[in-house]
Amino acid sequence: MKRATNYLENVGERGVAPSREAVARLAKLNRPFPEQGLEAEAVLAELDEFCSPATMATAGPRFFGFVIGGSLPAALAANWLAGAWDQPASFYEETPATAYLEQLALGWLIDIFRLPPGCGGAFVTGATMASFAALAAARHVVLEREGWNVEKDGLFGAPPITVVVGAEAHVTLMKSLGLLGLGRARVVRVPVDGQGRMRAEALPTTSCPTIVCAQAGNVNTGAFDPFPEICKRAHSAGAWVHVDGAFGLWASACPSRSYLTRGIEEVDSWATDAHKWLNVPYDSGLAFVRQAEALRAAMAVTAEYLPPTTEHRKPSDYTPESSRRGRGVEVWAALRSLGRSGLSDLIERTCTHAKRFAEGLEAAGYEILNDVVLNQVLVSFGDAETTRKIIAELQEDGTCWCGGTVWQGHTAMRISVSSWATTKADVDRSLEAMLRIASKHARR
Ligand SMILES: *Cc1c(COP(=O)(O)O)cnc(C)c1O
Repeated sequence: MKRATNYLENVGERGVAPSREAVARLAKLNRPFPEQGLEAEAVLAELDEFCSPATMATAGPRFFGFVIGGSLPAALAANWLAGAWDQPASFYEETPATAYLEQLALGWLIDIFRLPPGCGGAFVTGATMASFAALAAARHVVLEREGWNVEKDGLFGAPPITVVVGAEAHVTLMKSLGLLGLGRARVVRVPVDGQGRMRAEALPTTSCPTIVCAQAGNVNTGAFDPFPEICKRAHSAGAWVHVDGAFGLWASACPSRSYLTRGIEEVDSWATDAHKWLNVPYDSGLAFVRQAEALRAAMAVTAEYLPPTTEHRKPSDYTPESSRRGRGVEVWAALRSLGRSGLSDLIERTCTHAKRFAEGLEAAGYEILNDVVLNQVLVSFGDAETTRKIIAELQEDGTCWCGGTVWQGHTAMRISVSSWATTKADVDRSLEAMLRIASKHARR
């Protein structure tokens, strides 16, 4: 614990990316499996000495790569306490505290996201598995309507399911579809607009069984699909609508951003992450399904030696995993520490920081490629090569860390502001580094 707090106290002032030397030193741990063990304290010393310097400072305030987030103090400490408890979260009868916290957190999340009361929920590893779980429920329902029991009989010989996705659906959604036997490439791709939003009027006319996958929070632009229009078309054709809202769903928690999720409560299932914008430790994802029974039908198993169904929610009835860590503990702790106003402020603050980045870069003459409606900024410093050079040099500089992307044919630097720890001063300090490096290279 002392080593961890020491790490956190210093993580804001070191270079964000680990040095090459620090990463190279990891190899010193590579030795044959030792005959003799080591005291716990010495094990921790080895970890701290060799691995702490080789970490990316994602827990610090100036990491803007991907959509990562840090760990809220209450959530991190809850993670440590839960580690000491060493409780799974499978059955209320076995481990009441973790099972109950999950149920409480689920209730709060349903309230926060304004989802239908009584909808089913699963605590999983991340948005990939959240979409997997939710789409397993979707697969169950759309095939059940055709008289097919997919859990019992599998997909061989089943009526084919049409899967519709936006052209800029996240790659991990494709992976979820592949894992479910629905095929990564066997999808109908709907064209998107200049922000990456699905064009609802271009949705194909489909017959059942069909699953439409929409998106809340495009990983490049932060844009949201038009849910009311998608739902109207899809539902009138009897299709199931799923939303990948890995980070975007959290816009619902912030009154000034909730217009972005308009109509999202009409869909049939939702996937999101807690380890991104809620700032809980890895790993933590959440699936919600309007018909709790459908999720249960896809996931539940019974055996003589397992606790029977009682009035208490049985967490393992709703998840792909059987044994699983109590992720509800940290989610509950994060929500308890923030409260409604703190959560709203976290979302608002990070979005405001993103806007500040965009304004600072634009004022210096660089092109912002997206409408900055959320916490994502795409900036071009000129041609692809120049932009790539500036990204590499910024990563080397260490003041902050941003990644690159190619979006709708444009090479850009991607800024995602997702950490509770980022302050306005961190934004200004990072902007200064960006502009200092860019001015050396860019033709404006
Ligand atoms: C991050 C992300 C995912 C994948 O989430 P994991 O937690 O890494 O599984 C899916 N969709 C979108 C839009 C994302 O941003």
